[in-house]
Amino acid sequence: MHSSDAGTVHIIGAGLAGLAAAERLTQSHRAVVIHEATAYAGGRCRSYHDQTTGMLIDNGTHLLLSGNHAALSFTEAIGSRAGLRGPDEAQFPFIDIASGEQWTLRFGDSRFPWWVFHKDRRVPQTAVVDYLPLARLAWTSADKPIGEVMNCAGAIYDRFLEPLLLAALNITPREGSAKLAGALIRETLALGGQACRPLLAREGLGSVFVEPAIAHLRGRGVSIAFEDELVELLFANGRVSRLKFAKQTIDLNKNDAVILAVPPYVATNLVPGVVAPSLFRGIVNAHFRVDPPVHLPPMLGVINGTCEWIFPLPGRISATISDAGRLFDMPRTELAQTMWNDIAKVAGLARDIPPWQIVRERRATFAATPEQNARRPSAETSWDNLFLAGDWTQTGLPATIESAVRSGYRAADLVKHRLRVAA
Ligand SMILES: Cc1cc2nc3c(=O)[nH]c(=O)nc-3n(C[C@H](O)[C@H](O)[C@H](O)COP(=O)(O)OP(=O)(O)OC[C@H]3O[C@@H](n4cnc5c(N)ncnc54)[C@H](O)[C@@H]3O)c2cc1C
Repeated sequence: MHSSDAGTVHIIGAGLAGLAAAERLTQSHRAVVIHEATAYAGGRCRSYHDQTTGMLIDNGTHLLLSGNHAALSFTEAIGSRAGLRGPDEAQFPFIDIASGEQWTLRFGDSRFPWWVFHKDRRVPQTAVVDYLPLARLAWTSADKPIGEVMNCAGAIYDRFLEPLLLAALNITPREGSAKLAGALIRETLALGGQACRPLLAREGLGSVFVEPAIAHLRGRGVSIAFEDELVELLFANGRVSRLKFAKQTIDLNKNDAVILAVPPYVATNLVPGVVAPSLFRGIVNAHFRVDPPVHLPPMLGVINGTCEWIFPLPGRISATISDAGRLFDMPRTELAQTMWNDIAKVAGLARDIPPWQIVRERRATFAATPEQNARRPSAETSWDNLFLAGDWTQTGLPATIESAVRSGYRAADLVKHRLRVAA
């Protein structure tokens, strides 16, 4: 089979990076085909019907912040921005499950981090000077583990920075990359409450990021081939010349381009010489079928518990644990009961466990250490018509939706530029 003479962009992978690349390319009047190995889109950001609980659940509750401008512009483009909901002002309620103490960080709605100067808005038992390490992290030069840049102890760390950085980087913060933490701080906390409003896809990730994207792309002529796994790339004259899928082969024309938006462990098998992150961290999510009590806030940070974040959602309560490798071998029933005990305690519910499901994603994100961060490749490759996308490419951000969408946009812009130059 041959691609069209006018030039086709083949996007491999229908995760958010691939979908974002396709969305950007719909504005370029090029033929676009997405090839996805599985029977569904969304990759690591998806919803599915769970037979055990009879609920539509997400593989993991995903949190965005209002400063995630690429992710938000993607949802604007596909018409699903209204599905991301959060409080009107940036607020983060916490509970210390050991002591029962509760507090709420209130970032307000300004474009400057004034909240640091308000005793009733910042972390209890902290002073303004305690927040200076944030500035040090934000403008760190050489990449180092966070533990070498700031003191990973004390109230400000235990009650704010650790939960925040653990969730954002998906790694025990002292091991995490100071550069990635710095980028996060510059793009959110340093810009005040306007950039820190938490946003959730309360009706499910699929309804915000996946189904609207598929409908939008199909409506603009993008073809999406499911169960179409790329197994080999063939190269000739400095270009990709042929795509070998499990069920078909496509010979590329001189105007065709390829965006490889697959996970790093797939990309390194397909592209000779690509260096990419090779270590990963897991995330555990639990979903309990129960109507959340009305007094619970839309999300709750938990200190000194097994659960780290609790999300009351329509008809269920979900909970998340990051960098959760230690829990992957725990029997599922024991893990579910342990997590439910935390939820029952903070929500004032009975300890009898309701119908539940546990989702363990072993390779949820690459390990956000300085060493692994240094292995992230740029979108351009040694091959003229081959570009990389994915949250693991060199976006300067932790592996998040924001990183995935930006990587897709970047790869699409490079393709557009290359095709314009070639024309
Ligand atoms: C449990 C969990 C919780 C998370 N929480 C958050 C959060 O709170 N906030 C946040 O911003 N981010 C969060 N993330 C991260 C976010 O989900 C990812 O950054 C994002 O989804 C990555 O998108 P991607 O397109 O780069 O990669 P992927 O989603 O991995 O997409 C790659 C796609 O390529 C396909 N593919 C693989 N091999 C082939 C092949 N050979 N041929 C064709 N197709 C192939 C895959 O099937 C997949 O669809 C979380 C992730 C997980 C797992």
